[in-house]
Amino acid sequence: ITVLLLGSGGREDALAMGLRQSPSCDKLIAAPGNPGIARWATCVALDPTDAEKVVALAREHNAGLVVVGPEAPLVAGVADACAEAGIPVFGPGAAAAILEGSKGFTKDLCLAESIPTARYVRTDDTDFALASLSEFGLPVVIKADGLAAGKGVTIAETAEEAEEAVRAAGGGPLVIEEFLRGEEASLFALVHGEEAVVLASAQDHKRVGEGDSGPNTGGMGAYSPAPVLTGELEQRAMAEIVIPTARAMARAGTPFVGVLYAGLMLTSDGPKLIEYNVRFGDPECEAIIPRLEGDLVQLLLCVAEGRMGDVRPQLSDTHSMTVIVAAEGYPGTPKRGGPIDGIEAAERVPGVTVFHCGTARHASGALLGAGGRVLAVTALGPSLAEARARAYQAVDAIDYPHGFHRRDIGWRELERSE
Ligand code: ATP
Repeated sequence: ITVLLLGSGGREDALAMGLRQSPSCDKLIAAPGNPGIARWATCVALDPTDAEKVVALAREHNAGLVVVGPEAPLVAGVADACAEAGIPVFGPGAAAAILEGSKGFTKDLCLAESIPTARYVRTDDTDFALASLSEFGLPVVIKADGLAAGKGVTIAETAEEAEEAVRAAGGGPLVIEEFLRGEEASLFALVHGEEAVVLASAQDHKRVGEGDSGPNTGGMGAYSPAPVLTGELEQRAMAEIVIPTARAMARAGTPFVGVLYAGLMLTSDGPKLIEYNVRFGDPECEAIIPRLEGDLVQLLLCVAEGRMGDVRPQLSDTHSMTVIVAAEGYPGTPKRGGPIDGIEAAERVPGVTVFHCGTARHASGALLGAGGRVLAVTALGPSLAEARARAYQAVDAIDYPHGFHRRDIGWRELERSE
């Protein structure tokens, strides 16, 4: 069949590889794509949040499946438009994408369904918010609840910081919550309506600097699986968190379809939900897709069509590690341009694929940096240590003078296993 993939980052480059390598994929179109995705797909310059244009493009190519990579088209209702046009689509409708869009919505759903999560208060009343702070002790977590997926999470260590964070919201909607102790892990589940199947686990590295220092980023690296999320904890998270969520969404008439990414805190009381994302993580996707065996097109098509009995993702026994190469200045103002060489040499390291997150092809054919995160270097190996050795060997083969990367991806797990 013909598949239309929406998006233009490293996540979509990994999806494009998986889709293209599927025996059932006859043709892959990407909108808008990037120079990495162009290895696997025909790229079409088109705004992926424009539902009408996406449906028209899917029709023009007689696409049998649309795969939505990023959140923006989902929020814009692109999956709804495809579904209405009768085109199978992997990705939730706008009403179900609210699981990511509104932290307050998700917290209220957890409360109603007894899903384990941090105790919380949801309010837009500054005085009430200030008065509530004392219920939580310190540190306390304060989150802006904008529909524009808030980059506004403060972990306040002192009462003054907490007050400041509440006042900074200026009376906008807030979620104040209990600080959870433990290790974070991500669980990716394939969901259609009431049914959900585990895909994989991963851990990412949000901070820009080594030892998890400095400001937050979109993610500087990841590995999969996350052994800290044992089979038993994974089953608990599915039974106590993901499946009750899927059922509640289906009951409300806003069934979820696609990949539900649960950000978990593994506490001494078991896994608790920190947040949901309604699409693959980036760079977690670049770590997971290379581990997947079998036909990705069929897997995603079965999810899209609700044939969940046939959804049996097969992951290789390997470990993967993804190291992000970013442009200097990221996550502030990244340096633009700058030539990138050595990708072929990097990909000669066994088990390595280099995905493009933010690159551009100059008219001369040269590859240039064109974003904050520029490349995602993934290596597979029989152990995480072996995957790491290969990943960094590949990173070192890349010549991109404007770039930087973290040298310590996987440190928690590697420390445990060493
Ligand atoms: P993301 O970029 O991960 O999507 P976000 O802005 O949507 O972030 P959250 O994921 O809710 O916000 O929180 C960001 C980070 O803050 C979490 O990954 C976690 O490290 C920390 N955090 C959030 N809530 C809590 C909590 N209740 N207890 C401890 N840490 C928390």
